[in-house]
Amino acid sequence: MSDSKPLKIVILGGGTAGWVSAAILSKGLAETGNSVTVVDTAEIPTIGVGEASIPTIYELLRNVGLSDADLIKEAEATFKYGIQFENWSKVGESYMHSFGNMGHNLKGIEFFKIWLSSAQYFSSRDLTPFMPSAVAAYADRFARVAVRPDNAEPHQYYPMCEISYALHFDAALLARLLKRKSLENGASHLSKHVVDVISDETGISALKTDDGELIEADVFVDCSGMRGVLSRQELASDFENWQSFLPCDTAIAVQTELTKTPRLYTRSIAHEAGWRWEIQLQNRTGNGIVYCSDFMSEDQATSKLLSEVEGKLINEPRKIPFKTGRLNNPWQKNCVAIGLSAGFLEPLESTSIHLICKYANLLGEALGKGELTHETSDEFNMEWRRETEEIRDFLMAHYVVNQRDEPFWKKMQTCEQTAGLKRYLSELHSMGWLSLSDQALFGHDSWFEVLVGQGFNFDYQKFSVQPAQAQQHIGFLQNVAGAVQAEVGKIQNSHKSMIESLRD
Ligand SMILES: Cc1cc2nc3c(=O)[nH]c(=O)nc-3n(C[C@H](O)[C@H](O)[C@H](O)COP(=O)(O)OP(=O)(O)OC[C@H]3O[C@@H](n4cnc5c(N)ncnc54)[C@H](O)[C@@H]3O)c2cc1C
Repeated sequence: MSDSKPLKIVILGGGTAGWVSAAILSKGLAETGNSVTVVDTAEIPTIGVGEASIPTIYELLRNVGLSDADLIKEAEATFKYGIQFENWSKVGESYMHSFGNMGHNLKGIEFFKIWLSSAQYFSSRDLTPFMPSAVAAYADRFARVAVRPDNAEPHQYYPMCEISYALHFDAALLARLLKRKSLENGASHLSKHVVDVISDETGISALKTDDGELIEADVFVDCSGMRGVLSRQELASDFENWQSFLPCDTAIAVQTELTKTPRLYTRSIAHEAGWRWEIQLQNRTGNGIVYCSDFMSEDQATSKLLSEVEGKLINEPRKIPFKTGRLNNPWQKNCVAIGLSAGFLEPLESTSIHLICKYANLLGEALGKGELTHETSDEFNMEWRRETEEIRDFLMAHYVVNQRDEPFWKKMQTCEQTAGLKRYLSELHSMGWLSLSDQALFGHDSWFEVLVGQGFNFDYQKFSVQPAQAQQHIGFLQNVAGAVQAEVGKIQNSHKSMIESLRD
């Protein structure tokens, strides 16, 4: 690839990945002289799901000059403080994996150690009272993160400084918003069906469309979805299959009318062979069931989904088969796969759009610096492998730590674990801590919340302290919970009133 002349960049695909990439790569075109063209076809529809995000969505918004108010006004967005996992550890039990931080340190001792030291005295091992985002979510109160006062005492606890949030949105409307941004930036859009790809050992030189046009470029971004038209089909990129670790392989999605005020969290409800999601927007609910086809038929999954959703159906249920795994090298030669073409980790923790934004951004930085070298693509691919492996292990932890007794869940309890997951679980068991990379997307609090919720067997005995000290710790925990409750009680806005104020 050349780094001296302006670059012609072609993005194949106009789904979330295509338009996120276009919005990022089209920034500053006038200065670089680069050109960005998105090619897609209405004959191949976008996947049409992908409506829950994690807090890194705000990096995308900042990056492309949008705000959450824009998504509230134009993409039916709602706020999200976390995910409620129901029936995952056992039928009838639930917990929340909330965004933001949990608890507060006691004189330099980390919160999780205090909690573990007295856990044997609790009637229920519930972390919710110590998670400001979760308490606010359940109270239907929305506030933005507070800034710690300059004159704050070093050990003073400010629960509202520890919250964090993301958004739910209509994926098609988000893509429309990003398309508008991209076109304003000077990107162009061609509605054409690509029927052939011209490549040699140096990479791809052109796409051939069904009307015979050749679209040439220096850099191709493959956002063609699970087909992976450029990366998987043309360049035969190596796909690492992770179905033995994450065996769910099918989803059925359906939209329903909203029956009440949208919740401040996503619901993830486990069933005998997988789980189902519920994501509430301002105008409708997105529902879907995810299952492993070895343990549940399409008919069973469809009737389960339809019997459990709330509200009247807006569309027909739609089946989406998928294969969990990833490309080992999404950046190959002059082609970079972003989105479903690069791989798919099931949507349990809403990570796909994060991956799209992050890797489109890394590509944008490389293009901006003219760094289209092997070193850059190697670094990009290495970071992708590290991150997707860490997310895979985190998702897998939800499945393998369970006390359900159906065949699917029993199989997950004993299935082969990745080396990373084995290490994380062993560290958590013995230390309550785990050694994640500095850049880990899901940090210790996330792992801790999920594993406590899943009923993980921490070595509680090992962490326990003398009864007198445990009583002190319990008193401290009660103070933390009281502080969280008191601060959440002061929040003025309900979810609905916050949305209404941003819509005006
Ligand atoms: C069941 C399910 C639930 C999900 N939930 C979430 C979630 O809650 N949060 C989250 O972050 N992610 C979620 N995801 C992932 C998310 O949906 C995707 O990452 C996101 O939509 C990006 O898709 P895409 O743009 O890569 O592909 P697609 O949406 O499939 O778009 C592919 C594009 O390529 C074009 N194309 C393909 N071939 C050609 C051709 N030959 N010529 C021209 N154009 C072509 C198509 O026209 C289309 O525009 C979910 C995924 C699934 C399967």
